[in-house]
Amino acid sequence: MDIPKGKRTSHMEYMEGMEVLADSHVMDEILQTLATYDYDSCTAAHVRRALDKDNRGPEELKALLSPAAEPFLEEMAQKAHAETRKHFGNSVYLFTPLYISNYCENYCIYCGFNRHNRIRRAKLDAAGMEREMAAIAKTGLEEILILTGESRKMSDVTYIGEACKLARKYFKMIGVEVYPMNSDEYAYLHSCGVDYVTVFQETYNSDKYETLHLAGRKRVFPYRLNAQERALKGGMRGVAFAALLGLDDFRKDALATGMHAYLLQRKYPHAEISFSCPRLRPIINNDKINPRDVHERQLLQVMTAYRLFMPFAGMTISTRERADFRDHVIGLAATKISAGVSTGIGSYGDKSEQGDDQFEIADNRNVEEVAAAIRARGLQPVMNDYVYV
Ligand code: SF4
Repeated sequence: MDIPKGKRTSHMEYMEGMEVLADSHVMDEILQTLATYDYDSCTAAHVRRALDKDNRGPEELKALLSPAAEPFLEEMAQKAHAETRKHFGNSVYLFTPLYISNYCENYCIYCGFNRHNRIRRAKLDAAGMEREMAAIAKTGLEEILILTGESRKMSDVTYIGEACKLARKYFKMIGVEVYPMNSDEYAYLHSCGVDYVTVFQETYNSDKYETLHLAGRKRVFPYRLNAQERALKGGMRGVAFAALLGLDDFRKDALATGMHAYLLQRKYPHAEISFSCPRLRPIINNDKINPRDVHERQLLQVMTAYRLFMPFAGMTISTRERADFRDHVIGLAATKISAGVSTGIGSYGDKSEQGDDQFEIADNRNVEEVAAAIRARGLQPVMNDYVYV
């Protein structure tokens, strides 16, 4: 189902009730950097200079993400490995996502959860959540990422907050990956026990974004882009950034993601910053989208470039990737890996799944198997390293 361009709302205009960060120039700075990024003008000499520096800034990131850096991938990987060791030792953090609802009011044309797709919709009640959480906690995990589709009607802020309060009974670290909110709503979730907020911008190319997000609150590009800043204003300890690589030009989206994290780190030095590195995966009921190819080598280039640019930032490797690739990048650049993953609703506890999965996962290993793979690489699986006082 298409919505002709003339019938769509402006994706740059805030909807009623959306908080505007009038004093923030972060989005403008990102978009200015993007507008002048011509990666084909980067040369081997630029890459060499970037690799030889101890502290790297945006100019170095531009070089490391360019095609000119591809022949240097081995050296980038070695340097990234050294930086990861320096800042994270041999720790690799484990977590799992818990989808509590897959209702969605948005129309993202590349997503199986979008409001026009006929999938099985479901939402866990408190008893269902506890069943799921108890089953996950039994595996030894201490960190959970709570996700919903983006429906403020079917999973309002209080519903998410109650889920987080329940999660505090079972887990020491709670993250959310839910629809963007205002800072007072993030403050409420923080009071319910949430530590960090992940928001995927999908693509930072505003024109492309407009063609992919046809309806719903997600259509509003600047509101989504400023979500992490509102989360930090709401008191969250950490925020995570990602573009869905393959939706648009992945080099530009990776640059924008890096800049977004870098600018907020400078503005909020106390914030714990991390990256996710998802690539577009096939979805149910939609074979029309042809993702722009991002091969594993290029994904590795992005991950090592992020690491060299922001050596202290966390980095999560998605279950969208194959097990052997995930094992390869932990310790090298990634610091966090999900395990025992299901993206369906109600699929951990009694396994009577009620709702469809958002995307296919490529690594079906359980927690023990992932932990064993981490150990096999001489690394240490860590369930949690944060203590509440
Ligand atoms: S990507 Fe997120 S917001 Fe968009 S349709 Fe899917 S679940 Fe909804």
